[in-house]
Amino acid sequence: MTQTLGHFINGKLVADHTRTQAVFNPATGAVSKQVALASPQTVADAITAAQHAFVEWRDTPVMKRARVMFKFKELLEQHRDAICTLIGEEHGKILHDAAGELQRGIENVEYACAAPEFLKGEFSKNVGPNIDSWSEFQPLGVVAGITPFNFPAMVPLWMFPMAIVCGNTFVLKPSERDPSASLYLAQLLQEAGLPDGVFNVINGDKEAVDTLLTDKRIQAVSFVGSTPIAQYIYATATANGKRCQALGGAKNHAIVMPDADLDNVVNSLLGAAFGSSGERCMALSVAVCVGDAVADQVVAKISSAMQSLKVGVFSDTSNDFGPVITAAHQAKVEGYIASAAAEGATIVVDGRGAKPLGYEQGFFVGATLIDHVTPNMVSYQEEIFGPVLQVMRVATMQEAMQLINDHIYGNGTCIYTRDGEAARYFSDHIQVGMVGINIPLPVPVAYHSFGGWKQSLFGDLSAYGPDGARFYTRRKTITQRWPTSEIREGASFSMPTL
Ligand code: NAD
Repeated sequence: MTQTLGHFINGKLVADHTRTQAVFNPATGAVSKQVALASPQTVADAITAAQHAFVEWRDTPVMKRARVMFKFKELLEQHRDAICTLIGEEHGKILHDAAGELQRGIENVEYACAAPEFLKGEFSKNVGPNIDSWSEFQPLGVVAGITPFNFPAMVPLWMFPMAIVCGNTFVLKPSERDPSASLYLAQLLQEAGLPDGVFNVINGDKEAVDTLLTDKRIQAVSFVGSTPIAQYIYATATANGKRCQALGGAKNHAIVMPDADLDNVVNSLLGAAFGSSGERCMALSVAVCVGDAVADQVVAKISSAMQSLKVGVFSDTSNDFGPVITAAHQAKVEGYIASAAAEGATIVVDGRGAKPLGYEQGFFVGATLIDHVTPNMVSYQEEIFGPVLQVMRVATMQEAMQLINDHIYGNGTCIYTRDGEAARYFSDHIQVGMVGINIPLPVPVAYHSFGGWKQSLFGDLSAYGPDGARFYTRRKTITQRWPTSEIREGASFSMPTL
């Protein structure tokens, strides 16, 4: 009998067989587990547990909260292999890629350990006669996270370590397509000494999400996923009076300048376009070549290098990337390739119909290269989220930048050049939140913050790092005077000034 994954509420794994959905092993195409889809009552139970836990947790000294994170980091490192295997089995990414994802998540836990430092607040003495004033950063209460399938460990780790160390309690709703990693993390947090109810995981679909968005006890919602859902989450959460940050989809362009070192560019593009089957929100999916001569060389070199790429099962670490997440997503990616061809692009390398030996039923799409892509094509306007690299040809750097600035997404971008002046102009003027200069995946480290522009992020604050600390706290400013017994002041009816 297949296992049914439940929820983690108030420190306990809770079984739930009422409404379930299949979880697949995308390399074999077989159903590996079932996952419970929480009812509104189950979500409400998790919120209640978090609300009760908040009373003590908010007053737990920050150093003690940070100590839980130190221990949690150790446990994540000890259990690295088990977590990566769960990710591989449900998401399909190769173990070395899963280890990279987890390491990036651990770095967010390391940053959370610094909470006693970044929650110190601000203090001013003598803002008036015998008057002192300070600002402190108080937790919000119960906060929620809703996460996508493509980073089942890292994206939850962007959110809850920071939220919890700031004194909040948390309800996580992970992707129903690869839910096991979150349940595993919950148990490690408990082992690290986190009190019951501070961190809860509910599995589910839209019904669970809508309950989180409308329950008055939830103070803030962090979301990462596709843009249409991000827009919905942001509109609904804010209409219900909640603070919200909603990170959406992407179309990340790399400009290849004529002076770039093309051999380095090719290696860098291969990993950034096809790593994790292109299912990264920072995947480089468009190479904008300045000049036909550059484009011809890039296409020739990449298509030749693509012949040796290996696609297959997560556990064989000689593979470069794995399957895409579902059969439906495989069909969608292949549909974009077909539509590009129908709209006049050239399919230079066609990954459709990839069938690794022994995994013929898996949801595989091989690495695909499409040349002569133009801005009017649907496959350019929308996010493909698969192992597909599109090549566009422009005459000047200005034209390349205009393309990027005109796109609805503004998550990541990169320029390959040896010209410092061009690079500086690019980073100054490009309408994108995360910029690489000869760096294909400019994912900010944990002590900076992660966020795109335009339709890649709804809300004012980016994820994790200093913005994360701001998002999960509320500023309170206190002004204090202890009256001196000799001084008697009369009533004043004008605005107090110095
Ligand atoms: P998704 O939007 O389908 O799902 C994300 C979450 O929303 C899941 O937990 C899901 O259960 C929930 N959800 C789905 N449909 C819903 C609905 N109608 N109402 C309420 N909740 C709903 O995204 P996905 O396919 O899991 O992830 C891939 C997407 O995430 C891509 O677009 C990718 O670019 C984006 N992403 C963005 C970032 C970023 O930082 N900007 C990072 C990772 C992934």
